[in-house]
Amino acid sequence: MSTALKLPVARTDTSEDSGEHPKVVESTPVGVAPPLGVVPARMDAWVIRKERHGLPMEAFQREMVSVPEVGPNEVLVYVMAAGINYNGVWAGLGKPVSVLDGHKRPYHVAGSDMSGVVWKVGSAVTKWKVGDEVIAHCNQSCGECGACNGGDPLACEDQKIWGYETPDGSFAQYALVQGQQLLRKPPKMTWEEAASYGLTYFTAYRMLVDRAKVRPGENVLIWGASGGLGVFAVQITKMMGARPIAVVSSDEKAKLVMELGAHATINRKEFKDLAWHKDETPEQTKKRMDATKAFGKKFWEAVGETGPDGSRRGRGPDVVFEHVGQETFPASVFLANRFARIVICGATSGFDLHFDVRHLWMRQKSIIGSHFANADECQRANELMMRGLVRPVLTETYSYLEIPYTHERMRKNEHQGTMAALVGAPRPGLHNFSEA
Ligand code: NAP
Repeated sequence: MSTALKLPVARTDTSEDSGEHPKVVESTPVGVAPPLGVVPARMDAWVIRKERHGLPMEAFQREMVSVPEVGPNEVLVYVMAAGINYNGVWAGLGKPVSVLDGHKRPYHVAGSDMSGVVWKVGSAVTKWKVGDEVIAHCNQSCGECGACNGGDPLACEDQKIWGYETPDGSFAQYALVQGQQLLRKPPKMTWEEAASYGLTYFTAYRMLVDRAKVRPGENVLIWGASGGLGVFAVQITKMMGARPIAVVSSDEKAKLVMELGAHATINRKEFKDLAWHKDETPEQTKKRMDATKAFGKKFWEAVGETGPDGSRRGRGPDVVFEHVGQETFPASVFLANRFARIVICGATSGFDLHFDVRHLWMRQKSIIGSHFANADECQRANELMMRGLVRPVLTETYSYLEIPYTHERMRKNEHQGTMAALVGAPRPGLHNFSEA
């Protein structure tokens, strides 16, 4: 674990005019807050620009930018800590599309998870006040359409992921959110723990609870079980009385997911031909199918339900938790039980999916797309965190200066669980603003 770098001491970067007006703060150094509610003109931010799309260490650069203006339904949050997510990697790479084409601002501040302090509220916001300690979910929507009022805000035509499709994310001293995005920070958690779970946990919650509708007793195959989504998928599956069968790539990762409640683990590295590849020869396809069948047998063993002679077909996955995409999707479709649900929210290994559709229709399986979560789901899921029924899995805490590096670790699949970086919090282990 890396600890916070020592941050510079406050520079009193203020200017006075005639003396009748309050001091205007131009900016403060990272880790030094102005008086509560005083909004500086400029802030330090990790900025992505179109001309430097590429690997995180180049794509993310520190710049001084204007603090965002607060609209009527919006809230400005002083960021104490920011969570690291894969969408920061995509935003830096500019793949599969440049986020800058979407929001049409010349620069992008990524970051879709944070903990922080409400610094300014818009005129229409009534539920939050300056000084409240909060986290944010990352779904934005118009708030006015039918989907937002009685439907599902994820169906709103203006739905966007904050910090990815919007330009004012959490890798900066201040972040701009809609009021409806805010959730109470669990008071017992440190700033970095509270910043670490929202995006992946709330996504996994929607996928399993509301989209795949996991039932007690079902078998759930979880790809990437030790990653950001996976560590929560394991906990939620277990909590729902279903059986999480966790796919990992090392013994260390297996240990972590067993501690989180996995029923059993499968190390995908033992099945070297499992992944789908473009332009496979017939021999390679056969090898892949053999590896997939061997993986399936391992799944039956993991569930513990092979026939008494060990040769009969056991029960496969009732639900497959997918986000790897191209390399694993054909196996997900093949391995799933009759009438199983394959719920997918991402495609780390590629989004152009190829699979044998006969395996889908003959056995009446369903593919279910899922994308983040609505405010109601986030609130319900956050309540479980508050009650300690699900826990954050923060494995690494970094300083503000290390934000690009955290994304490089994520891109290289070097991390486990989730990572966070301190922004306003001067050191790890603090729980509230007065301590900081
Ligand atoms: P993560 O922390 O990097 O975890 C992903 C896990 O997938 C890794 O731990 C790795 O585990 C496994 N993995 C990676 N490449 C693989 C491959 N080729 N074959 C099999 N397993 C592989 O990322 P995450 O935060 O869980 O996010 C995963 C994906 O979901 C990303 O693409 C992200 O953008 C997307 N996502 C989408 C949403 C949404 O709302 N739509 C929300 C969150 C995330 P092992 O190496 O141990 O197998």
